[in-house]
Amino acid sequence: MSDLFDLNGRVALVTGANTGLGQGIALALARAGADIAAIGRSAPDETAAAVADCGRRLRWIEADLDRVDGLGAAVDAVVAQLGRADILVNNAGTIRRNAALDFTEDDWDAVLGVNLKTAFFLAQAFARHCVAVGQGGKIVNIASMLSFQGGIRVASYTASKSGILGLTRLLANEWAAQGINVNAIAPGYFATANTTALRADEQRNRDILARIPAARWGEPADLGGAAVFLCSRAADYVHGAVLPVDGGWLAR
Ligand code: NAP
Repeated sequence: MSDLFDLNGRVALVTGANTGLGQGIALALARAGADIAAIGRSAPDETAAAVADCGRRLRWIEADLDRVDGLGAAVDAVVAQLGRADILVNNAGTIRRNAALDFTEDDWDAVLGVNLKTAFFLAQAFARHCVAVGQGGKIVNIASMLSFQGGIRVASYTASKSGILGLTRLLANEWAAQGINVNAIAPGYFATANTTALRADEQRNRDILARIPAARWGEPADLGGAAVFLCSRAADYVHGAVLPVDGGWLAR
């Protein structure tokens, strides 16, 4: 049974693996046996040390994910440095909080760019590689509760995370027959830089906690099992699914 979840010999590309949820996911994949290509703009030193502690390799592929040129080269660099590319986790993301009446074009473009446009073009570059070498692959997109709900003061974030859910389904439809699984994880409310403002606001913090059946904020390690599952052979027949890891938020 454990073989189903074994990632030995696999190489996983994880965007934004230097911190937060991306770091938690990278560590879980490494513990399951994968080597990690950390794609992002900040040096993932802490993650690299933890990956090395579990006997796996991590290579940093430096990339500003506001831009989509160079994503094909990033996939090529992964293959050159680690020998292959089997898994892509589209995790890097950002958020802008502002009333819809005051939202600027920059608030819109900055979030849609990294959260949706780059996620699509990196998935495309990764899938082109998989098709070119005649192998399957696993893609996991990081969605959100705001793939299902409206939220408030986060117009571009909600648009991007609702979009990533639709895109997950579309790509699953197009690529399933080629052995590429495209799925999503929808994290609930996790304690990372992304939610600092919410946790700092006493009233919002209390309201959010009161609505989470598990009665606590999620920690990055809470995503590990879902990520390993969707990146492993255990998920070979899972396509276009979204797996909430939310302490029960959506069930409420
Ligand atoms: P985080 O701690 O702020 O981490 C975001 C990551 O994305 C960082 O590695 C960041 O790099 C990277 N990133 C952002 N913009 C980038 C760019 N232009 N180029 C390269 N890298 C960029 O937030 P997090 O909570 O771990 O978020 C990870 C993902 O989970 C995001 O997609 C987020 O929307 C999603 N999510 C989070 C929650 C939550 O409750 N925390 C809930 C649902 C979904 P730098 O460190 O260099 O900025």
